[in-house]
Amino acid sequence: MSDQDNSHPKQPPSNWEQEFLDQDDAHVRAAKIRYRCPKCESLLVLKEGANGSFWGCEAFPICDYTANNQEGKPVRPIRYLCPACHSPLRKKTFKDNTFWGCSSYPECKITVEDNHGVPSDTKKYPCRECGHYLIRKRSKNGYFWGCITYPKCKNTLNDDKGLPVLRKKR
Ligand SMILES: [Zn+2]
Ligand SMILES: [Zn+2]
Ligand SMILES: [Zn+2]
Repeated sequence: MSDQDNSHPKQPPSNWEQEFLDQDDAHVRAAKIRYRCPKCESLLVLKEGANGSFWGCEAFPICDYTANNQEGKPVRPIRYLCPACHSPLRKKTFKDNTFWGCSSYPECKITVEDNHGVPSDTKKYPCRECGHYLIRKRSKNGYFWGCITYPKCKNTLNDDKGLPVLRKKR
């Protein structure tokens, strides 16, 4: 703001509130905020990993605490649960394929497709054969929908842009 603005006191600054917020935001970004490891109280440091930046404990490898990086802040990795047995899902990488697998493997063989670090198909569609539900899976030939209780129920549906569609009857 220049001195000229003070000569018109009756004219309120048009969007002072937004300007203030912008300023505040800039201040927050410039400030060095230090985050402490909840496990051992050491400082967390921002690290570069294969899948982008993340927060790791300064005491690594003594302390293996890590957190996801979200706009410069450490956030606890969100736990995603297996849609079939509610065990936590674990992110896995096989060759170039990243997916989420059930931590109760091999008892539970559920895998969920990865979508930018998030298990993508938390959407569920009922299986008309057994009353459980279908999840989106990937095969060599592309996506399809299979029953959560596979191999007990072998019901599958074709995938059409992320939605299950009935197989065409010929
Ligand atoms: Zn630590
Ligand atoms: Zn499971
Ligand atoms: Zn089924």
